[in-house]
Amino acid sequence: MDRIKDSKNITILKGTLAKEIKKDRVITNKGDFYYKHLVGADGSYSLVRRFLGLKSKISIGLYYRVPEIIDNLKIYFYPKLLKSSYIWLFPHKNHTNIGIGLHLDSKNLTFDQSKEILEKFLEKNNFTYSEKEFKFAPLNCYYKGCIFGNIFLIGEAAGLVSKFKGEGIFYALISGEEIGKRILNPGYKMPELKKALKIKKEEERVGKIFESLPFFRGLLLKFYINLSKRPWI
Ligand SMILES: Cc1cc2nc3c(=O)[nH]c(=O)nc-3n(C[C@H](O)[C@H](O)[C@H](O)COP(=O)(O)OP(=O)(O)OC[C@H]3O[C@@H](n4cnc5c(N)ncnc54)[C@H](O)[C@@H]3O)c2cc1C
Repeated sequence: MDRIKDSKNITILKGTLAKEIKKDRVITNKGDFYYKHLVGADGSYSLVRRFLGLKSKISIGLYYRVPEIIDNLKIYFYPKLLKSSYIWLFPHKNHTNIGIGLHLDSKNLTFDQSKEILEKFLEKNNFTYSEKEFKFAPLNCYYKGCIFGNIFLIGEAAGLVSKFKGEGIFYALISGEEIGKRILNPGYKMPELKKALKIKKEEERVGKIFESLPFFRGLLLKFYINLSKRPWI
């Protein structure tokens, strides 16, 4: 934002809520804005995506912010209980973010069960938690394309999240850059986005195999972790 805020051809409107998308304009709480190209970068519950009539597949990240600060990032897998999901511990400067992912389409755990598992984990590991530090947010991993005529989707609006890792920052950055280049040059083939999509597809394929083989989950996980420690992977 800092790098573009003084550009003559860019106007940034802060605190502006897009309320409705029309074929030729966006209706906001600060008036109507007509567009030649519209880029929906509005996250997992994208208004632009809904205007295009695209479905979403929602996962949810549930987490507590606890006051204890740990030294390193940690990930815990419980393949029998959580299938391909995991519990993460991300240390921050003033707190640690400890959370769990929930895939609503996998018929595995409910929201309440996931929250209970997370709380048991916190208690067992002596973390202090309180309801007011509990948060959750949706993720949309259902990719159906980025280009729809003069309307574009990037990041989570496009469903660009790795379903099993819950990672979307990398995809949001890549897709934003690639779509920007594509708008400037309609012949641009978006090679970086294609590479990223290949990774997402491959990860989701492995994740599906993992979920469909309940008895081998522990073994597969060990194999996958050992493999990813190799420098040549
Ligand atoms: C709990 C949790 C943990 C995560 N952990 C990781 C992680 O460790 N690593 C990782 O890579 N990814 C992680 N992700 C995913 C990552 O946060 C997202 O994929 C990424 O932020 C997507 O970026 P985005 O710009 O597409 O959308 P967002 O970051 O969601 O940005 C969308 C923006 O659009 C705005 N907006 C939405 N609707 C409107 C509207 N109608 N009018 C105006 N503005 C609007 C929102 O306010 C928001 O600022 C996590 C997600 C969750 C929920």
